[in-house]
Amino acid sequence: MKVLISADMEGVCGVTSWVQVMPPELGQEPSSTVEYERARLRMTREVNAAIEGAFEAGADEVIVNDSHDGMRNLIPEELHTEVRFISGSDKELGMMQGLQEKVHAAFYVGYHAKAGTPAAPLAHTWTGYVNDVRINGESTGEFGLNALIAGHFDVPVVLATGDDKAVAQVKAYVGKQVQGVVVKEGYSTFSAIHLHPTKAQRLIKEGAKKALSKLSDAKPKRLSKKSKIELEFDHQSRADQCLYIPGIKRAGERAVSFVASDALEMNQIFRALIKASRVQMSP
Ligand SMILES: [Zn+2]
Repeated sequence: MKVLISADMEGVCGVTSWVQVMPPELGQEPSSTVEYERARLRMTREVNAAIEGAFEAGADEVIVNDSHDGMRNLIPEELHTEVRFISGSDKELGMMQGLQEKVHAAFYVGYHAKAGTPAAPLAHTWTGYVNDVRINGESTGEFGLNALIAGHFDVPVVLATGDDKAVAQVKAYVGKQVQGVVVKEGYSTFSAIHLHPTKAQRLIKEGAKKALSKLSDAKPKRLSKKSKIELEFDHQSRADQCLYIPGIKRAGERAVSFVASDALEMNQIFRALIKASRVQMSP
C-alpha cells in the first residue's frame, strides 16, 4: 500500500498568521524568519506523525508532496527517513503531485478552510483574491479541487488534519470516510485555541492509522463529465482578463465559468485562470 501526503501549512498547530507561513524574502525582518522556521519544523513533525501512522497501519511506501506557497517548506533532514518527498512549485498536479506514482490513499495534513469561512485561521482558496470556487453549484476550497484530482486517479482522500472548520468542510465535501484530526479551533481569521503540538502530532499519528484501517470502505470523489466550474474573484478586472482564454465565460460581475470534461482538465484550466487573473489593478 502506497500513501501520498499533501502537506499544507496554514492548518498546522500553532499557526494563525501569514508571518508564520511565508518564507522570508531578502531584507525581511529577522523576527518573521524565526516564526516561519518554527512553523515549518512543526509542519514537518506533523507530516512525520502521519507517516508513522501510515507505516504502522501497513503502508509499504509513503510520499509527501510539499503543497504550500513555493513548496519548499518541509525540512528534509527532519523528515522520517523512509519517506520520499516532492518539493518545488510548477508541478503538473500542484498540491496533488505524486498521484502519478500509483498511490492507494491520500492524506491532507495542515489544511485550511475555504475562502470566506468565518472563525477559520487563514481561510482562503488558492490566493487572497479568489472569493469562491463552485463546482456544479457547490462551493468548495482547495480540498475539494484536490479530492477530485485524486478521484481522477481512483485515489480516495482518507485523512484531513487542520483547524475545526477545515476538517468539517473536507468531511462535508469528500465524505464521512475522511478521518479528521482537529489540531486547533479557530476564533477568527487570525486567532485560534490550539492543542499542544506534541499532542496534535500524537493524534495525527492515530488518525492516520485509523484512516488506513478503513481504506477498503473509502470511495474516490469523482468529477462528473461536463462539470461546470465557477471562479469568483474580488474584482471585475480579474474576470476581464480570464475572458481572453477560449472557452471561458463571464458568470457574473466578478466571476467566470468553464466546463471541464474531467478533473485533469479542470485543474489545468483553473490554474491558467489563476495566472491570468493576477492583474495589476492600475495597468
Ligand atoms: Zn498553504
